[in-house]
Amino acid sequence: AKTWILKKHFDGFPEHSNFELKVEELPEPKDGEVLLEAVFLSVDPYMRPFSRARMKEGDVMIGTQVAKVIQSNSPTFPVGTHAVARCGWRTHTVCDGSGLIPIMPDWPRDISLSLALGAIGMPGLTALYGIEEVLGLQRGETLLVNAAAGAVGSVVGQIAKIKGCKVVGSAGSDAKVAFLKELGFDHAFNYKTVVSLEEELKKASPEGYDCYFDNVGGLFSSVALQQMKNLGRIAVCGSISLYNDTTPQTGPYPYLTMIFKQLKMEGFLQSRWEHKHPESLKRLMEWLKEGKLQSREHITKGFENMPAAFMGILKGENIGKAVVTV
Ligand code: NDP
Repeated sequence: AKTWILKKHFDGFPEHSNFELKVEELPEPKDGEVLLEAVFLSVDPYMRPFSRARMKEGDVMIGTQVAKVIQSNSPTFPVGTHAVARCGWRTHTVCDGSGLIPIMPDWPRDISLSLALGAIGMPGLTALYGIEEVLGLQRGETLLVNAAAGAVGSVVGQIAKIKGCKVVGSAGSDAKVAFLKELGFDHAFNYKTVVSLEEELKKASPEGYDCYFDNVGGLFSSVALQQMKNLGRIAVCGSISLYNDTTPQTGPYPYLTMIFKQLKMEGFLQSRWEHKHPESLKRLMEWLKEGKLQSREHITKGFENMPAAFMGILKGENIGKAVVTV
């Protein structure tokens, strides 16, 4: 098996020297075990903040993949079946099947299994729970989402449209803005080229925002909060603008605005609603089949390019879900 190791903890923006490619001999699968071969591997922003908390130097990089069972001593996962496996950046894995999530039954043949890492997987679930469980978004409301052309953000905007809302999205390139318009966003803008974020947010929704789905945090949020309506709700999903900071995070959030506008802000992890995952994945799949949900992927070829693909999302290179094919 080939594996990518965290050779040295990140200090600031990740570099190639933080990673090391290693080759490992695998044992024969024992009774109840399977041998998995990675088909699609996910690279996700959480790997950056989680690396410090969950990994030590020398560990295999954390991550999820869609894998094919190529040898099996388990009746639950016969040879040829696919599963979502949280086994990290590895081409092959021997495991006992306990952490494996079977691909949803009746997965349509014409839909790539890679979507189990994206719109019909963790990012899609994050979007759904942020909207329904955290924000409680209602028909006719106005929602703001940033990193809107990414894996989570693009699904957030589309679900909000399904729910009959007005959607404003920001992203970091003109190509991304064009993509958001294709998806039906009511207003989309390139936050890197606008003269004033405040003016752009005001122009997009002069009456303010009922809900804000925050993937970015930092300065963007301190401006966005000022544009909320009274009693507005904020789902704090991610703070990617701060993930590579080397100094502790202190804000800046405008607390007086929070008080005077009586805002409600809630951080969340999609795993809180794990018990709902099967039913939620079915709903996302239905929307996809009905054409109400579109999915775009940013594919990088080659296991050897995992670090580059990961660094790419932190630089904003991806439109849609970033996936690596082996
Ligand atoms: P994306 O597919 O959106 O990729 C990340 C995007 O973030 C980039 O393409 C880039 O887009 C933007 N970005 C990168 N660096 C910066 C920066 N310094 N400032 C502003 N934007 C930046 O990733 P995901 O959809 O997978 O994740 C989006 C967010 O959701 C992340 O913050 C992630 O940590 C969080 N998340 C949270 C979960 C939860 O359970 N709470 C679960 C999954 C994800 P652009 O060109 O627009 O800048």
